[in-house]
Amino acid sequence: MTLDAKIPAGPLENKWEKHCFELKLENPSNRRKLSIIVVGTGLAGSSASATLAELGYNVKTFCIQDSPRRAHSIAAQGGINAAKNYQNDGDSIWRLFYDTIKGGDFRSREANVYRLAQVSNHIIDQCVAQGVPFAREYSGLLTNRSFGGAQVSRTFYSRGQTGQQLLLGAYRALSHQVASGRVTLYPRRDILDLVMIDGSARGVIARNLITGEIESHSAHAVVLATGGYANVFFLSTNAMASNVSAIFRAYRKGAYFANPCFTQIHPTCIPVHGKYQSKLTLMSESLRNDGRVWVPKRPGDKRPAHQIPESERDYFLETKYPSFGNLVPRDVASRNVKEQCDQGKGVGDTGLAVYLDFTDSIKMEGKDSIAQKYDNLFQMYEKITAQNPYETPMMIYPAVHYAMGGLWVDYNLMTTIPGLFAIGEANFSDHGANRLGASALMQGLADGYFIIPNTIGGYLAGAHLKEITTDHPAFRSAVQTSIDRIQRLLSIKGKRTVDDFHKELGLILWEYCGMSRNDAGLAKAKQLVHALKDEFWNNAIVPGINEEFNQSLEKAGRVADFFEFSELMLSDAMARKESCGCHFNENYQTEDNEALRDDENFCHVAAWAFGGEDKDPIFHKELLSFENVVLTQRSYK
Ligand SMILES: Cc1cc2nc3c(=O)[nH]c(=O)nc-3n(C[C@H](O)[C@H](O)[C@H](O)COP(=O)(O)OP(=O)(O)OC[C@H]3O[C@@H](n4cnc5c(N)ncnc54)[C@H](O)[C@@H]3O)c2cc1C
Repeated sequence: MTLDAKIPAGPLENKWEKHCFELKLENPSNRRKLSIIVVGTGLAGSSASATLAELGYNVKTFCIQDSPRRAHSIAAQGGINAAKNYQNDGDSIWRLFYDTIKGGDFRSREANVYRLAQVSNHIIDQCVAQGVPFAREYSGLLTNRSFGGAQVSRTFYSRGQTGQQLLLGAYRALSHQVASGRVTLYPRRDILDLVMIDGSARGVIARNLITGEIESHSAHAVVLATGGYANVFFLSTNAMASNVSAIFRAYRKGAYFANPCFTQIHPTCIPVHGKYQSKLTLMSESLRNDGRVWVPKRPGDKRPAHQIPESERDYFLETKYPSFGNLVPRDVASRNVKEQCDQGKGVGDTGLAVYLDFTDSIKMEGKDSIAQKYDNLFQMYEKITAQNPYETPMMIYPAVHYAMGGLWVDYNLMTTIPGLFAIGEANFSDHGANRLGASALMQGLADGYFIIPNTIGGYLAGAHLKEITTDHPAFRSAVQTSIDRIQRLLSIKGKRTVDDFHKELGLILWEYCGMSRNDAGLAKAKQLVHALKDEFWNNAIVPGINEEFNQSLEKAGRVADFFEFSELMLSDAMARKESCGCHFNENYQTEDNEALRDDENFCHVAAWAFGGEDKDPIFHKELLSFENVVLTQRSYK
């Protein structure tokens, strides 16, 4: 199949406007006759549901949680980017576009990224109009801070709770549509399968998480806004419910999966502290505006931070990357932190941590100023570690954080299945091989508020879809498949908990497909995962029954999908014989240990098609062409 990204012709600056003009329009009275399923109520799903309903469509919105407000987006801390240039520090749409392309190590689409930068400014206007309380400076204008990979300040924020405030804004808009009857909410539902009729996406199969009832829901189009799958690593900064299942089920039905091996490791998380931990906590990248990262110069130096004099400290990011200092992008910072710890300079009990120190900023700006920006993050840190970061430097270490991979989508955000769209973190996104901080919220809201409302109309206006009901045989067959899978999980009746399998799977991936990879390790991981998957299907214990609130069953379904997905992820990592962004294959590095791309052979998006049960996935590629930027070796020095 030829992958046509449907990128409009013409100059970069005009593509989106021209495309919107050329898209077919669905007239307002027709929209009222059409229904759209949106799965997910994070920033992407809530904003899409609210906006589509405002346009007149009948929207059915699903989420796992009891309230849309509890989607993982609520956890986002640091901020959201936009090219407003309020700071007058040289920012522009072009600079945001360029930083994002470069930050992603030249593995994203120019046209999409440019559109994202253009739309970023509308997002801020929309959110301000909704009443999102962004931080302001003395004049009343919205203020900004800096995030990694940028030398300007373009990040809008609400202290360390930006995701929460943005989601409350989107939730208010969504609630308005629920009250008007144009959105029907289905909370506490787990989407188990996609239903296709005549080759198009026409509905979903959901499990009611309270009663276990298997439900069928039909629509004219389906939008997946199901977030990221970083929990495949077991330990990650994502919410416990974040999963790959809905997009993986769609992949099995024919949607291509793009760049599954691109996982972001965030440099500043609270280090792992024990074997029985199930979650990792992020310390926002915003902290690197004021916190300085350092380790003792001498390996094995176990003195407490305050006893190590200035001359014996190595501010390794500032020394190695003088232009960007502590604000190098996440992939670069993470690898450098690991390198220091590998050299024996790590701090804390495990030696797997470096300091993030606010002493100088507190001296310069005063404690109150630092508290105004980060106090809730400092409190969170203190609650977890019992250390006060105003007095003792934080200890941080990289952790799995974000999935750049996801369902392949074209410029319209449509997958390879007609009528199936993917938005937010669930698609393979605009971030290439590495996402810059504060740009996931930007992308989710760009997709939901501004892009999908246009492009889905273009699809529906030209689609000529038959009217169907959930009595259609395709629904009956998908229901049966879901019931059979649930019964299979319940009947394993083995001895090992699902969590235990998940933990081991996560360790394999972290070891062999984490911050750095190599060809031999990836091959070994494939064997290990395969063997563990076999054991899972023979020895897992899934207690209880389907017809009840059964979180073990929920989890088992997700872990089963994580197993299959891991194999896809490893295949992708093995096929990409270069290093780029987060995908650091030790076999391909520059003399000073930076990622070494191979633009001649790998300047593409890897898009994988399901090859059949227990068969290898089928590789397709979308070649990336760069007409507006020159491909260079990424440097932050
Ligand atoms: C701790 C933390 C801090 C972050 N801080 C920032 C930041 O400061 N700036 C930034 O830009 N980005 C940040 N990010 C990244 C950002 O938060 C996410 O990428 C973004 O919120 C994802 O939004 P989403 O709408 O795509 O998905 P989510 O918010 O993950 O929502 C997914 C939705 O899909 C539903 N769902 C999933 N699977 C199913 C299923 N099978 N059936 C039914 N429903 C399903 C869920 O219930 C949920 O409603 C942060 C991430 C973390 C982990």
